[in-house]
Amino acid sequence: MPTLQKTLVTTLIAGALLTPFATQAQSKTRKLPFVQQEWSKDYRPFRIAGNLYYVGTYDLACYLIATPKGHILINTGLEESVPLIRKHVQALGFKFEDIKILLATHAHYDHVAGIAAIKKATGAKFMIQEKDAKAMADGGASDYALGGHGATFEPVQPDQLLKNGEIIKLGTMQVKLLHHPGHTPGASSFLLTVRDEKRTYKVLIANMPSILDETKLSGMPGYPEVGKDYAKTLASMQNEQFDIWLSSHASQFSLHEKHKPTDPYRPEAFFDKAGYDKSLAGLKKRYDEKLKQK
Ligand SMILES: [Zn+2]
Repeated sequence: MPTLQKTLVTTLIAGALLTPFATQAQSKTRKLPFVQQEWSKDYRPFRIAGNLYYVGTYDLACYLIATPKGHILINTGLEESVPLIRKHVQALGFKFEDIKILLATHAHYDHVAGIAAIKKATGAKFMIQEKDAKAMADGGASDYALGGHGATFEPVQPDQLLKNGEIIKLGTMQVKLLHHPGHTPGASSFLLTVRDEKRTYKVLIANMPSILDETKLSGMPGYPEVGKDYAKTLASMQNEQFDIWLSSHASQFSLHEKHKPTDPYRPEAFFDKAGYDKSLAGLKKRYDEKLKQK
């Protein structure tokens, strides 16, 4: 399938999959709006570029930035993903207990449900864009689109609130937060530079602005400015410059087409500005279509 077509299909599927409570899925202890079996299948961890590693599951992307001063973990998948993440960090030769900072691309259960457990196990500081702090503290119950049915993950009080452009530091490592609201009010991408023996790589871990079916761009009761925020995010994401593109879900950046579990180290596999642009174009099209709906 041509990439553009595929991007559109992926976008549509992503919207359909997240229809809340159309399918009641039971995680260990909580009822979740939706869980796709494939999401949390085990997946072999690998080095993406420099000190950046993929430690997530088959589709729920989690990124480890390993430094001599401890590690940063971005996203955690579901509650049941935590033992897999621990196993992946250890398989790469790092200590799980050395995770010092926890970050997240947005406060939905498929990316933050493990924060509470990992924070407890490691004592790491949890930081999130300030507008997602409320949803984190009530386990997603107040989410403007998926909320209203109780907590979908264990609530966590953030240790530090982040703003657009803020730099998160650990030793000499610097990670910049880019506020890309819409999918949630605090949805964010991260920009960082990593290096290996050969060169440096500018990496964008993008929270792609997908739109849930239940979102009305004219305004939601819990998020009146949702439409404007999506428009701003779609416009500003077009201007991002980077070498490597990654996202919250592996499917969003076609991980499994770019990398096989037995592949050797090859950062260039993730150079894909064209794929990023096509994906954004597909999301913009979905935005324009949603805008026509009452
Ligand atoms: Zn989400």
